[in-house]
Amino acid sequence: MRRKLAAGNWKMNGLAAQIEVLNDLTSRHPTPAVDVMICPPATLVGAAAAATAGKPLMIGGQDCHTAGSGAHTGDISAAMLADAGAGAVILGHSERREDHGEDDALVAAKTTTVQGAGLIAVVCVGETLAQREGGETLDVIKAQLTGSIPADAAADTLVVAYEPVWAIGTGKIPTLTEIAEVHDFIRAELTGRFGADFADKIRLLYGGSVKPTNAEEIFAVSNVDGALVGGASLKAEDFSGIITAL
Ligand code: 13P
Repeated sequence: MRRKLAAGNWKMNGLAAQIEVLNDLTSRHPTPAVDVMICPPATLVGAAAAATAGKPLMIGGQDCHTAGSGAHTGDISAAMLADAGAGAVILGHSERREDHGEDDALVAAKTTTVQGAGLIAVVCVGETLAQREGGETLDVIKAQLTGSIPADAAADTLVVAYEPVWAIGTGKIPTLTEIAEVHDFIRAELTGRFGADFADKIRLLYGGSVKPTNAEEIFAVSNVDGALVGGASLKAEDFSGIITAL
């Protein structure tokens, strides 16, 4: 049985005072029925991990380099994130793919690095509006899954997030039928490639305009094991509503 996961992605938001949201969340949810994760910007990972030490809230990074260390100005490694107290890293988010030209091969290499460092890799896939309107959604998802998840991926530290690019930060979400179609497809693809034992362990998160008001209906959809939440993870009250809805 897969344990549900409510994951928040703070993106490039949050100064030191934002740590208070974590204190608020852990006091609202001392024993959550689901796994809870927040991925703050790199500058806050250490403070976030310190604030949540011993509490049921995992801290994650939003990206990392493929190398363990070296001459890569401005980058951080998976080992550094682990050392700062992170337990997971988001990889291949559409904003990384778009803003930094990350392709599937790079995301796959990062996935290997992150899993090798003992961290959970949250691998993101999702189609653009043009791709959806062109009827290409499942082909795009298939190509991203195949390219971004390496052949030797470990099931125990892999999470896949389906985030339609056009649903991120827009207030628009696919229909529940469309979400089910993609999530069922991802499960089937993972089963075909890695076998049912592997695929059954992987939590599939939906991301894109998840709010406390729509979380319950999204979480009831087939093969949705949680959410990757942007804007609504920045306020304890909103993210708390999503944790409760799971
Ligand atoms: P929003 O929840 O703000 O739409 O962002 C989703 C997202 O990109 C999470 O990674």
